[in-house]
Amino acid sequence: MQKFRDLVLAFRQLDLDGSRPVIAHASLSSFGYVNGGAEAVVGALDHHFDQVIMPTFTYKTMIVPSSGPLNNASKYGSLVDLNKMTEFFHADMPADKLMGAVPELLRKQAKATRSFHPILSFAGINAKEILDQQTLKHPLAPIAKLADLDAWVLLLGVGQKANTSIHLGERLAGRKTFMRWALVPDLIVECPGFPSCSDGFDAIEDHIQPIVRKKHVGKALIKAIPLRGLIKITRKLVEEDPLALLCENFYCERCKAVRAEVAYKLLND
Ligand SMILES: [Zn+2]
Repeated sequence: MQKFRDLVLAFRQLDLDGSRPVIAHASLSSFGYVNGGAEAVVGALDHHFDQVIMPTFTYKTMIVPSSGPLNNASKYGSLVDLNKMTEFFHADMPADKLMGAVPELLRKQAKATRSFHPILSFAGINAKEILDQQTLKHPLAPIAKLADLDAWVLLLGVGQKANTSIHLGERLAGRKTFMRWALVPDLIVECPGFPSCSDGFDAIEDHIQPIVRKKHVGKALIKAIPLRGLIKITRKLVEEDPLALLCENFYCERCKAVRAEVAYKLLND
């Protein structure tokens, strides 16, 4: 399986110590892979790294109540029709299509486990103690645990918008988070600590250049980033400029809410 070998070889050439855990994000289409692509990627990650996790988020469980906190980027009571599309979370719910085929295949491995969060779950191999850190209040706790373990972030043909770990740096810098709600059988659960928008995350590239390792595999660019360094750089950026890494879409509700909170704090300090 050439694709499997290419990836394992790339991880070796990038000198990635496989005894450190990895959080991976992948886009098969950027590799030009079709058949067997996801198997090759999951197989190569599992082969090279002792512990692997990927996000298996399920946004289709989200529901909007009729009222809730102010400045929460939520249109309360106006999404009744959308709520009709909401599905109950269950442990075997597939990851959303937009997460790609790779995390879904990882989740389905016999030896994989998945965390319980109804919107922001992660799946992993040999990573139960990392996934077990997650709580409803701290959905990004597995990433904090990964940082304790000096993990890698691996971007396989995806940009920084897919890099969930940047959200932990934002949170540590005090950036606003959001309340969301999810449907589980017989219950609507509050999911606080929902992160802000990631559409502006490509702006971090210049700042992390010194710590990123890069290599092309086929058409795709692979980037490996030490997680601790990534979090430290993100935190410093947002502490120095509370508007750093926000997107430029004028209509983006979450970035608008972050800007509103920053302005409010400036006025009231
Ligand atoms: Zn935005």
